[in-house]
Amino acid sequence: MIVHVRPRKGARQRCGRCGRRAGWYDQAGRRRRWRSLDAGTTKVWLEATVPRVACPEHGPTVVQVPWARHDAGHTYAFDDQVAWLAVRTSRTAVAELMRVAWRTVGAICRRVAEDAKQKVNRLANLRRIGIDEISYKRNHNYLTVVVDHDTRLLVWAAPGRDKETLGQFFDLLGEDSGKRITHVSADGADWIKTVVKQRCPGALLGADPYHVVSWATDALDAERRDVWNSARAGKGKATDESKALKKARWVLWRNEDDLTEAQQAKLGWIEKTHPRLHRAWALKEGLRWVFSLARQGFPRLATTALDRWLSWARRCRIPAFVKLAGKVARHRDAIEVSLQHGLNNGLVESTNTKARLLARQAFGFRDPHALIGLAMLALGGLCPPLPGRV
Ligand SMILES: [Zn+2]
Repeated sequence: MIVHVRPRKGARQRCGRCGRRAGWYDQAGRRRRWRSLDAGTTKVWLEATVPRVACPEHGPTVVQVPWARHDAGHTYAFDDQVAWLAVRTSRTAVAELMRVAWRTVGAICRRVAEDAKQKVNRLANLRRIGIDEISYKRNHNYLTVVVDHDTRLLVWAAPGRDKETLGQFFDLLGEDSGKRITHVSADGADWIKTVVKQRCPGALLGADPYHVVSWATDALDAERRDVWNSARAGKGKATDESKALKKARWVLWRNEDDLTEAQQAKLGWIEKTHPRLHRAWALKEGLRWVFSLARQGFPRLATTALDRWLSWARRCRIPAFVKLAGKVARHRDAIEVSLQHGLNNGLVESTNTKARLLARQAFGFRDPHALIGLAMLALGGLCPPLPGRV
């Protein structure tokens, strides 16, 4: 179904790119079509003549139309519905329902998010932020992401993970806004520290609990591998014991509260048969407990618990954890900032997990900006409502 449309008579002609009023460049123009929402099962296109205006800034440019974004082949309603679905349903569902390619979904996410960013400035009132990197495309590529601890929203993302990339964020923030940032949480990465110290010197830099706990998980895994290796009879042959230890990996990784009954039994077995590995597990849980105390609103207890943990870990005689104790001690100031200022709300962790899921879903977007668009819609609160509902 093709619907012939034209802007209302007397509507002011504006530049399609900047929206500024401009004189005609050529009145005739060519016919163009925009895909709109289906009428039942019938595909619908809008068709119109698009003349050009002579924009003082952009030169001859296609005139702004009230039903679609500049340079888009779909109407606002179509774009918004695709964006809404991309945030809420599977990749195949949105592509099949809307009868577009997945790549088109990516392009739509990108332009809807960029449009929404123009309308709401989430950077103006930033005070406490978390900075992190996430990987996509099987860990070959990275995005740097910034979340707002106060609104719990993703506020910025860009391809790359280096000083220059993060520099772009602070450029966007402006000189003064950079100084308004009071708290920054991040993993221990030096490149983040360097840029933060330079661009917002007054901010307290906190260590992100998610990463500190993941260091402990790594140390635990190193210990488990040691035990597993020595359980393999002599020349790397699998024994019943080593097989059981291999399977124990997930039990050791999980948070204690999330263990099923069978997993608890397994943990009991480890406690009886491999006390040292069990001690390593208890150290991991102990460090997690420090942050969970702070999360429950006991920052002082958390600091005390951190110090007790440090002295325990230093004397534990498990190499991986003695090493970890050194690392935690080096980052102690930053960890304390997180404990005292409530930067430990699991926000970065959950954003990270969700963004990773999105990255998996967005596999097939060739353009990292499509992934960023989808992430900003889903995690940045920029997703439009379904057309016609507000
Ligand atoms: Zn213009």
